[in-house]
Amino acid sequence: MSDIFDKIIEGEIPSYKVYEDENVLAFLDISQVTPGHTLLVPKKHVTNIFDYDDETAEKVLLVLPKLARAIRSTNPKITGMNISSNNGVSAGQTVMHSHWHLIPRYDDDNLNETLVLTIDHSDDYNQARYEEIAAEIKKALN
Ligand code: 5GP
Repeated sequence: MSDIFDKIIEGEIPSYKVYEDENVLAFLDISQVTPGHTLLVPKKHVTNIFDYDDETAEKVLLVLPKLARAIRSTNPKITGMNISSNNGVSAGQTVMHSHWHLIPRYDDDNLNETLVLTIDHSDDYNQARYEEIAAEIKKALN
C-alpha cells in the first residue's frame, strides 16, 4: 500500500522539491517548523530505521550533510540545524515511510533547544513562499 510520501515520490501529490536523485528525494515539510524545514526520504519504501538495508542507509546519509549545508547557505541567520527522525508510533512517527527532518535553527526562533515536531506554521505560508524557499535551497545545491 502506498503512503503519502510514496505518492509525493511518484508525483501523484505535489511537493516543493529541493533535491532528487535515483535513490532519494528532498522536499519542504509542509509544516515549516522553521523556515527551510526539509524532509529527506529514501525512494525505496522503508518504513523506518529498523528496516534499512546498508545500501539505502548509505544513499540517504551521503546526501544529508550536503543538503544541510545547502539549506544553511540560503540564509546567514541560520546558525544551527536539528536533524531528526521519528521511528515508530511511540516515537511520534506519523508517516510510515522513513524520513529525516532537517530543521534550520535561528538565534531568534524562540523555540526550545530541543524541538517539538508538532509545531505547524503552514497557515503562515502560501505557494509563492514555499516556492521561494525551495528555489533558494535548489540553487545552493548546484
Ligand atoms: P513525523 O511526525 O512522521 O516525523 O513527520 C511527518 C511530517 O510529514 C510532518 O512534519 C508533516 O508536516 C509532514 N507532512 C505530512 N503530510 C505532508 C504532505 O502531504 N506534504 C509535505 N510536504 N509534508 C507532509
